[in-house]
Amino acid sequence: MSTTEPHAPPAGVRLRIPPVLMYHSISPSGQPDPHRVRVHPDRFDRHLRLLRRLGLRGVPLAELVEAHDRGTAAGLVGLTFDDGYTDFLEHAAPVLARHGMTGTVYVVAGRLAGRNEWDDGPRLDLVDADGVRVIAAAGHEVGSHTLHHVSLRGADPAVLAEQIGDSRRVLEEVLQAPVPGFAYPWGHFDAAAADAVRAAGHDHACVTGDYLPGDRFTIPRFFVAPGDGTPQLLAKLARHSWRMRGVRATGRGR
Ligand SMILES: [Zn+2]
Repeated sequence: MSTTEPHAPPAGVRLRIPPVLMYHSISPSGQPDPHRVRVHPDRFDRHLRLLRRLGLRGVPLAELVEAHDRGTAAGLVGLTFDDGYTDFLEHAAPVLARHGMTGTVYVVAGRLAGRNEWDDGPRLDLVDADGVRVIAAAGHEVGSHTLHHVSLRGADPAVLAEQIGDSRRVLEEVLQAPVPGFAYPWGHFDAAAADAVRAAGHDHACVTGDYLPGDRFTIPRFFVAPGDGTPQLLAKLARHSWRMRGVRATGRGR
């Protein structure tokens, strides 16, 4: 990490950012949800209500990381939505707007206007290029989630370059703006993948599992399950605080 950037933390200091929540689909649909990716809009509304009661405000991950670098991240929570389902615009964005919050949508750039062909269904619609622009125009961040939602763990350099680099180029072309954020499909990453994300020009990246945080290219998130209520969400936020205390106590380098 360069020490010449004004807001970059000094080398060897672990990233101690507030918790980041991971959602996928926000929808009232009653179809089967075998991969547990769907949270009902009413439940999502209760989650954001809880954050407000706790004095927290949901923001895109890029805003959270930037605030961390400036030392102003207290009171913020990262809100992220993987895959770029069209229901974000229909069901998540209105709830977020009602609570004065915004989030990051990680889009699969080679599947715009397509469907989630990478798993065994049920099939859900993905936003098209216009949808990507509408999301950004509403104040949300659009991040990259590779070109085709492939696993990057163990991938060869050509695949890494295509899936990461081309995805970023597509999204920047659509948005006519930089795309600093990246999320690894299924959270699969290794050192080569993280290096490729950095080399492609991204500022930070997040994973899926929730484990000890540190590096800005493997920022952990908390999976929000379809049935998570107030107690579960409170437990996840508390667990994050406990882990961050551990990071401060050890003072270990990255
Ligand atoms: Zn995904």
